[in-house]
Amino acid sequence: MHEKWDYTGDSVGHRPRFNIVCPYCNEPMAMRSSRLRRIMRKDGEFIPTNCIGYKCPTCAVVRRWNVAIRPSEFDSILAQRGGNDVYYPPIEEWTEDDRIAQQLEALGYFGGRRDDFVIRED
Ligand SMILES: [Zn+2]
Repeated sequence: MHEKWDYTGDSVGHRPRFNIVCPYCNEPMAMRSSRLRRIMRKDGEFIPTNCIGYKCPTCAVVRRWNVAIRPSEFDSILAQRGGNDVYYPPIEEWTEDDRIAQQLEALGYFGGRRDDFVIRED
């Protein structure tokens, strides 16, 4: 459907056919979120989209692409997510990169590595 994004057939939904690189750091960015949305046009028709976010592991900038998708893709992705419109990659995948783990820790999320996940009490 989209010339720049491929349908993956899983709960992520879509992946780019191009490299997503931070414009500030020249680093590959990591996929961080995907949200299914229906955007209403002026004529009242709803367009299904997948809003996909990537984050830079170095400077933390986030960029989002709002990709128009087929209604069948929307329905399939939503069903695979158990009705959740939002998908986040498992935290174990985020924290494979130490820089992202450190950012998460600095933002008050769980500790850096999967084995270290501790809910902070302070
Ligand atoms: Zn960056």
